[in-house]
Amino acid sequence: MDPARIHEWLCTTAVLIDQEKDRLTDLDAAIGDGDHGVNMQRGYAAVVRSLEAGGTDGATAGRLLVAAGDTLVSTIGGASGPLFGNSFKALGKALDAPGAETDTRRLAAALAAARDSIQRLGAARPGDKTMYDAYGPAADAFAREAAGGAGLAACAQAAATAAAEGARATVPMQARRGRASYLGLRSVGHQDPGAASTALIFRALATALEAK
Ligand code: ADP
Ligand code: MG
Repeated sequence: MDPARIHEWLCTTAVLIDQEKDRLTDLDAAIGDGDHGVNMQRGYAAVVRSLEAGGTDGATAGRLLVAAGDTLVSTIGGASGPLFGNSFKALGKALDAPGAETDTRRLAAALAAARDSIQRLGAARPGDKTMYDAYGPAADAFAREAAGGAGLAACAQAAATAAAEGARATVPMQARRGRASYLGLRSVGHQDPGAASTALIFRALATALEAK
C-alpha cells in the first residue's frame, strides 16, 4: 500500500472532521457530554501536525497508521480516543503484515483487525448504538467486495456507504455502552456520535482511494 494514500486518508479525515465538528458535538450533546466534535478535531489536528513534521519518506503505510493511532490515543481523550486510536494501531500492524497478496485483500484484513480491536476493547455488540455499528458493517462490506474481486476504490466506496447506513441505523437504537447508556430509553431517536465519526473516516477513505 502506497503510504501517500494513507497520508491522504488521514488528512482528508481531518478536513471532514473540521467541517462536521459542530454536528458531532451536537450529537454528543444530545446523548452524551457534548465533547465528541472537539475531541476528534483535537486528535486529527495532532495527526496532521505530526504528518507535516515527519512526512512519508521512508515510512510504510502501516507505520503511518500506527503512529497516527498513538497520536489519537493520547489526544482525542474520552471513550473514543482509545477505541479509535487502538483501531488504527491494529490496522497499521495488520497492513504491514506479510500474507495477503494484493493491497485490496491486505486492507480488507486490516480493517477486520481494526473492527475486532474496537470490539475487544469496548465490548460492544451490534445494536448497542456505538461506533461499532458503523465500523462493523463498513469492514464487512469492504471484505465482501474484496472477496468478489473488486478493486480498492470500489471496496472503499462500498465501505463508506455501509458506514453511513450503519450510522443512520443507530438512531432508533437504545445505547447499551458508553455514556449514552446512562440515558436508557432517552438515548433512542438520536444518532450515535462515534458512529457518525466512523462514517466520516470511511468517507475519507473512499475519497483517498478513488481511482485516479
Ligand atoms: P465520552 O463518551 O467519553 O465523552 P466521546 O464523546 O469522545 O467520549 O465518544 C463517544 C462515543 O464513543 C460514542 O458515541 C460511541 O460511539 C463510542 N463508545 C463509547 N463507549 C463505547 C464502547 N464501549 N464500545 C464502542 N464504542 C464506544
Ligand atoms: Mg462525549
